[in-house]
Amino acid sequence: MDFGFDDRQEEIRGRAARFADGRLAPQAAALDREDRFPAEAFEALAAEGFAGLCVPEIYGGAGADFLAYVLLLEEVSRADAGFGATLAVHTSAGTLPILDYGTEDQRRRWVPPLARGEKIGCFALTEPAAGSDAAAIEAVAEPAEGGYRLTGHKQWITNGRVASTMLVFARAPAGVTAFVVPMDAEGISFGVHARKMGVISATTDDVRLDNVFVPEEDRLGEEGHGLRVALGTLDGGRIGIAAQAVGIAEAAFRYAARYAAERSTFGKPIAEHQAVAFKLADMQTGVQAARLLTYEAAWMKDRGMRHTEAGARAKLFASRVANEVTYEAVQVLGGHGYMKDHPVERHYRDARVTEIYEGTSEIQRLVISRGILQELAEPVEAPGGVEGSRPVVG
Ligand SMILES: Cc1cc2nc3c(=O)[nH]c(=O)nc-3n(C[C@H](O)[C@H](O)[C@H](O)COP(=O)(O)OP(=O)(O)OC[C@H]3O[C@@H](n4cnc5c(N)ncnc54)[C@H](O)[C@@H]3O)c2cc1C
Repeated sequence: MDFGFDDRQEEIRGRAARFADGRLAPQAAALDREDRFPAEAFEALAAEGFAGLCVPEIYGGAGADFLAYVLLLEEVSRADAGFGATLAVHTSAGTLPILDYGTEDQRRRWVPPLARGEKIGCFALTEPAAGSDAAAIEAVAEPAEGGYRLTGHKQWITNGRVASTMLVFARAPAGVTAFVVPMDAEGISFGVHARKMGVISATTDDVRLDNVFVPEEDRLGEEGHGLRVALGTLDGGRIGIAAQAVGIAEAAFRYAARYAAERSTFGKPIAEHQAVAFKLADMQTGVQAARLLTYEAAWMKDRGMRHTEAGARAKLFASRVANEVTYEAVQVLGGHGYMKDHPVERHYRDARVTEIYEGTSEIQRLVISRGILQELAEPVEAPGGVEGSRPVVG
């Protein structure tokens, strides 16, 4: 792995940092307080060419690589982790799977408006009784003339209410199947808007499907191949959540370090008390290690290498680091860290979900340990997978 960025990646990183600091950071606290999705910020993101950064130009994107997209997500999440969630779901869960699993006709019809940011994408897998155990979904896709009729209840869908296009999973006769559905299709409605602990500027909604007609040509992949689509999508999506976690951790570290240099107790800056200085050292080391695991996974994806375990390792580690670093950042600020006057309490709340969505930390450990067991079993072919190999994807 080459640790240097090429000119394009450097340019994108610089522009992403300016966008994050200039456009997103100033309003992040207000959005968090007001529980508001910033539609105008998404328009500004699109104007920068960031809504489809890693989508090929022929499909309306900017044609950059996945690593460049990870750099963007890191910077965006450093300023506003909720907006990072919006962007991550829009891109890696709402747009890229159509490129990866769609027909040429589907790519040309669905992707360009998403890549240009004229439309927002969402990904609807989770249901009230099916999160980690995605194979347990109950939404149904009944065959109908010329297509399917979808009925079900999807829970906690990021971007749900603001999206125009939904990748949705339902059980067809041959098994779980993926569909691309416009949000204005008849029969789609929204339930409660989830009130969350963190990533508040991202909207999270219940989506109900009541007998929604989906034509055959909007089925994504083969009937019964939906879990493959979901798994493959989350392989990449997890690298994005790792980048989000790195961004949150970096924000908390920077703020705490600056504060520690300015705040004095017992006649000297608290950064000069070894207990605080060592915290800062551990925080920075954790963030950098998480960053490198994340970049490595993105680098592997860009080269077409298997990145399932690398992405899971990056997410597992980076999300833990984000929680530890934000916890310590609050501690470095003392009582001030607990107050809403400083951003570290928001970072602390935002970090929590990175250990939960796109697969909990326990599920990442399952993915990683299965990879280890498979490696140990080679070259003898594993007899139908390891025990308990029901796909876990949520
Ligand atoms: C803010 C937010 C946004 C979200 N956005 C989306 C979205 O856009 N689209 C979408 O489809 N979903 C979304 N989700 C859902 C998310 O992916 C699920 O919450 C997550 O996958 C976990 O599922 P669950 O909540 O049902 O927990 P459960 O699956 O019920 O798990 C509960 C606990 O049991 C553990 N557990 C479960 N199975 C195992 C096992 N086999 N071994 C060990 N431990 C296990 C879990 O790790 C967890 O600790 C979102 C969730 C949140 C909180």
